[in-house]
Amino acid sequence: MTTKSSQHDTPPADTPVVIVGAGPVGMFLALDLASKGIRSTVIEQSTSHRAYPKGDTHNARTMEHYRRLGLADAVRAAGLPPDHPTDVVYLTSLNGYELKRLRMPSGAEKMAEAAAHSVTSQVPEPLHRSNQMYVEKVVLERLLATEAVTCRLGTEFTGFEETGSGVAVRVRPAGGGPEEVITGQYLVGCDGARSHVRRQLGLSYEGEEAETGFSSGLRHSRYLRIPNVVKDVIREPAWQYWLVRPGRVASLITLDAREEFKLSVYAGNADDDDAVRAFVDDCVGEHVDTEILDSQDWVNGLALVADRYQRGRVLICGDAAHLFTPIGGFGMNTGIDDAANLAWKLAAAIQGWAGPYLVDSYDTERRPAGVRNTSAAISLGRPLRGIPLGPALEEDTPEGRKARGDAAHVLETQRESFASLGVQLGVRYEGSPIIWPDGAPEPEDSYDRYVPTARPGGRAPHLWLSRTQSLFDVLGPGFTLLRMGGHPPSAAALADAARRRAIPLTVVDITLPEARDLYECNLALIRPDQHVAWRGDELPDPDELLTQVTGGLAP
Ligand SMILES: Cc1cc2nc3c(=O)[nH]c(=O)nc-3n(C[C@H](O)[C@H](O)[C@H](O)COP(=O)(O)OP(=O)(O)OC[C@H]3O[C@@H](n4cnc5c(N)ncnc54)[C@H](O)[C@@H]3O)c2cc1C
Repeated sequence: MTTKSSQHDTPPADTPVVIVGAGPVGMFLALDLASKGIRSTVIEQSTSHRAYPKGDTHNARTMEHYRRLGLADAVRAAGLPPDHPTDVVYLTSLNGYELKRLRMPSGAEKMAEAAAHSVTSQVPEPLHRSNQMYVEKVVLERLLATEAVTCRLGTEFTGFEETGSGVAVRVRPAGGGPEEVITGQYLVGCDGARSHVRRQLGLSYEGEEAETGFSSGLRHSRYLRIPNVVKDVIREPAWQYWLVRPGRVASLITLDAREEFKLSVYAGNADDDDAVRAFVDDCVGEHVDTEILDSQDWVNGLALVADRYQRGRVLICGDAAHLFTPIGGFGMNTGIDDAANLAWKLAAAIQGWAGPYLVDSYDTERRPAGVRNTSAAISLGRPLRGIPLGPALEEDTPEGRKARGDAAHVLETQRESFASLGVQLGVRYEGSPIIWPDGAPEPEDSYDRYVPTARPGGRAPHLWLSRTQSLFDVLGPGFTLLRMGGHPPSAAALADAARRRAIPLTVVDITLPEARDLYECNLALIRPDQHVAWRGDELPDPDELLTQVTGGLAP
């Protein structure tokens, strides 16, 4: 029981949640919390959005999350023009031999395909290619306009102390100045690969610093302006150009479809500005004017996951919790899925309807997802070890033609890494203490194929309710009970129990016959992060069910 004096000893926190880092993951977490009515304070050392390129792939699951927050259209409007092809092409140089072209639809074609859907089509929000720096600008604008978020740009996090009922977070102006303390009920480190929060928690990364064989180790990312190359050199536009030949492997990604590019190259090449220009000429196959706008270094070939994602009231999300090799483009996307898993659990704890183990289930559910997805990235990169890059590759001879054919054969296997729907949509929370299992056999976990299943733990299989209305558009901000089939059982007992416990529950009736077939049951309880918590033809004891799915049972 709370006594008068303990109330007096524990002043209310300044903010329910302190988030360190306004990268894509920290910003998403703050917006998802705000969508559930939870205030947060975001601490970010930079004074504006990222102005240099990083990843380009916002996958189908991330786009579903952005749709839930009403951001998907704004994100799609950022980056490449909708009609620009998103092909991946492997060449000996831009004006040299084309070894393989993986044809991919443009953004507009993907949206047209999604619009011509069947009722049970599983991709309401196709993967979107646009550099993070453009998308982060859009998301930051939304963040700054969100009343429930206090955004402290130009502020550096310097450390924290856990108090009995919360966390005292130390910050100061970035670049130095007096320290200030902000108190929160929870602290979430979304502060990237060098996470100060993770290090202060004493957590470390575990896993592989793997060899992909193609381009592992230290890499340089160069942000370039090459004004005339699209007009004068490129024969057929693509999104990603891999420049592949003996002794040199690099990728050049178009950022704006016109003159801005991101060059990724392994260390030892393009180490200084003169070397960058010479390297670009070599990749293009002729001299071009190149302006270097920014440079970043990063390490390729990693599959590292923190040994824990949480200690007490302090948690980590995104790159602070895992580091990927960029093959497949899973790093940020996995981080956004972390944040979606965590947001509703923190909201439940703060609003008072969480069981004592709900927040802890974040680590139980998301750490295995980190291990799964980092492994997928490494394994999708493995075939690249076998690319035969013999000296004949650029020769106009029978040997040259054979070498190019052999390389093309291996490169075809890369298609999966650009269309890995199983990785994107297939995360399942097997064995989670907050999932009510139904004993159905565990489906195969495939990286490239997503097989929808309403078996508890997986993403809720998708349905189109009309030409434009997705099932995900009608789910409530809390739990949702789907009633399906001709004569579904009453939801009244569950609704009463939820009301008594102040658990937000929306009941949705779906009369489409496809729904009953897809879910293989009359009722399904969907969590706020769109994963299935329970399904069945009859409700079990409502209190037992709600106790389990809100973390009331010890694991
Ligand atoms: C070449 C390359 C290509 C990639 N391609 C893809 C892709 O296609 N798809 C994909 O999903 N992922 C991709 N990634 C990975 C992706 O870029 C990262 O996973 C993503 O940026 C992680 O987001 P985050 O918010 O966790 O961390 P970050 O983006 O690193 O953001 C962390 C934020 O915390 C702030 N911060 C750090 N310390 C402090 C402090 N002490 N005080 C205050 N603020 C602090 C930083 O300033 C930063 O803004 C790629 C990465 C690389 C290098």
